[in-house]
Amino acid sequence: MTRSRLIAQQLDKIHLRIEAAALAAGRNRNDIQLLAVTKTRPCDDIQAAIEAGQHRFGENYLQESLQKINSINCSDCEWHFIGPCQSNKTSAIASTFDWVHSVDRLKIAQRLNDQRQSEQALNICLQVNISNEASKTGILPEHLSALAEGVQNLPRLRLRGLMALPAAAVEFETQRVAFAQLKTLFDALNSKGHQLDTLSMGMSNDMEAAIMEGATLVRIGSDIFGARSTP
Ligand SMILES: *Cc1c(COP(=O)(O)O)cnc(C)c1O
Repeated sequence: MTRSRLIAQQLDKIHLRIEAAALAAGRNRNDIQLLAVTKTRPCDDIQAAIEAGQHRFGENYLQESLQKINSINCSDCEWHFIGPCQSNKTSAIASTFDWVHSVDRLKIAQRLNDQRQSEQALNICLQVNISNEASKTGILPEHLSALAEGVQNLPRLRLRGLMALPAAAVEFETQRVAFAQLKTLFDALNSKGHQLDTLSMGMSNDMEAAIMEGATLVRIGSDIFGARSTP
């Protein structure tokens, strides 16, 4: 089988998994979007996914992603930055990406806002440190509300939702706990008047648990493109 046929087949499988998970959760399948995570993957893999109908892509590493996005030049693709977002990267991110999922400080949000030149607002998810591990990025839940307020006031940003990358867990019931916590924070912000519509949670190994807890966008890499050889 050719590589592009394999990628198309893997995408079909993910769509079936999303459908089954939505059914199990009593949710509408159309409320769940698939972000194909293409860090470390060559342009050919991305092209194959585009030809198979996938148009929403997530990248983690800025330099690598800029090269790929420029060479692929897909006008109806949507590019999501999901990697660590430091000050020295904000300018290129603001001018290249449609979404950033990894905003966890007001200073970063302000830079993205100041550096965004497009007429269209940059879509933002705030990354929350749900598992509360010192090594992980993300805003702590107790500081989330203040950050959301600050981002809401930046005119070139559009606050869309929350993202989390919880500690890996094997058991379905354990996986659900962190996702349920993120959903609770999401609901709390909306009841305070925010209009968040995106709950970015769930990866290859835990997307079913994330969908059970309300994910509206799952970020899938290895189950589409295979195991990554480099981090
Ligand atoms: C790599 C990555 C993913 C995809 O993970 P897989 O386990 O390959 O599906 C999702 N989200 C983020 C933030 C990532 O860095």
